[in-house]
Amino acid sequence: MRILIVEDEPKVTRTLVKGLEADHFAVDVAENGEDGLQLSTEIDYDLVILDWNLPKLDGLTVLRKLRKSGSVARILFLSARKEISDRINALQAGADDFLVKPFSFDELNARVGALLRRPTELLDKISVDDLVLDRMRHSVSRAGKLIGLTQREYAVLEYLMRNAGRTVTRTMVVEHVWNLGFDGLTNIVDVYINYLRAKIDQGSDNPLIHTVRGVGYSINSSERDGQTSPGVRSFQSGKTGFERQTTP
Ligand code: CA
Repeated sequence: MRILIVEDEPKVTRTLVKGLEADHFAVDVAENGEDGLQLSTEIDYDLVILDWNLPKLDGLTVLRKLRKSGSVARILFLSARKEISDRINALQAGADDFLVKPFSFDELNARVGALLRRPTELLDKISVDDLVLDRMRHSVSRAGKLIGLTQREYAVLEYLMRNAGRTVTRTMVVEHVWNLGFDGLTNIVDVYINYLRAKIDQGSDNPLIHTVRGVGYSINSSERDGQTSPGVRSFQSGKTGFERQTTP
């Protein structure tokens, strides 16, 4: 998932980038309102964290222009202003949430989590056949066996699994998993798909990651002809499913 931070205070930005990257988000930063508006118009961010006081264009104007352009990105508005009327202004202009500065990263993180909790994303566990991705623990297992993934492999897999059953293009994967620091080719996706196949599908008679020629990739359970290998139990054969994490 990809987040844009529009903030001109380097100290706040550094804290946010560090914390959000540690939580596996791809993060971009814009240091003024104009750049923020341009980036958030061009790129399909999952979330925009937008400060009110910004050089060139203030956050409230960015917000209004963004909504006017039809953007449905989720927006967390930041401001040192504490007045209720200011919050109402921001929410009426289209912000999804409002956080007063100074704030603790933990609170911001909780709000980011709440904002990203939408129908396909509200679930702490995503499963495709016997492959389970646990977003709370950042862990992945297949048929109950834990699979060690790098941060990037995890992010690519999470994107595929959130779109299970749909074909995603290389460009879509790159746009949601890498940040602006990435200036390579979308072939990088093929490299990561190979890593994931080696870890998830190799040796399995039921490969889950499929190449859609000329388009991209999809993750879903293969068609089976009634044969399941003994010892391999599939709890949702042929389907993708979601379940909520129950508190241990
Ligand atoms: Ca500011």
